[in-house]
Amino acid sequence: MINDYGIHMQIYKALRARFGHRRWWPAETPFEVLTGAVLTQNTSWNNVETAISGLRRAGCMTPAAMAAMPQGEFQELIRPAGYYRQKAARLKRIAGWVEAKCGDDVDMCALAAVDTGVLREDLLGLKGIGPETADSILLYALKRPVFVVDAYTARVLGRHGLISPQSGYHEIQAECEANLPHDVDIFSDYHAQLVELGKRYCKRTEPRCNDCPLQPVLGTAEID
Ligand code: SF4
Repeated sequence: MINDYGIHMQIYKALRARFGHRRWWPAETPFEVLTGAVLTQNTSWNNVETAISGLRRAGCMTPAAMAAMPQGEFQELIRPAGYYRQKAARLKRIAGWVEAKCGDDVDMCALAAVDTGVLREDLLGLKGIGPETADSILLYALKRPVFVVDAYTARVLGRHGLISPQSGYHEIQAECEANLPHDVDIFSDYHAQLVELGKRYCKRTEPRCNDCPLQPVLGTAEID
């Protein structure tokens, strides 16, 4: 259990001191953030950037343009992001949902008046949108104070006994949200910091504990 508000701020400060503010999410518009959140499923960010550049060049980075584009042409545009048939279908569904709510507004302003829980349920109701993608959209595109959990979060917190091994997505999220200030910037950057830590130090195998910025804060971890 995470039972100490202080430990998370200590972790965050140590990570930020090492990595600097991560300035997530790089995008020109909230709709582009939403698009990136789907494209980044099971692929690297470099591949997502290539696909997004193609979508921009094709004039396809608005809800109406994306929803209207022929499926085959759209699949080719996002092919660099992998799983392009699945992702094309997911993106066209979510673009249609945005268009129905906001018209062709890439800032998705009409969603500002909608309750966060209602938005999450709507997003989760779209086939192919799971909790991590939905919460990434809520946090990074719509600026709602919702903590995004991913495999890196579970790995780091789990290795230090800050969550139980059985904790699922919503338990980890609830524990983090209960023990951090509900601040969009802190939620956004803490998640980004944990991703950076997972990539550079807290690797799945052979973690680099001796050089890790969390070693002075959390001490020696239990590694499976
Ligand atoms: S000290 Fe080791 S186990 Fe803990 S977060 Fe750093 S790399 Fe991961």
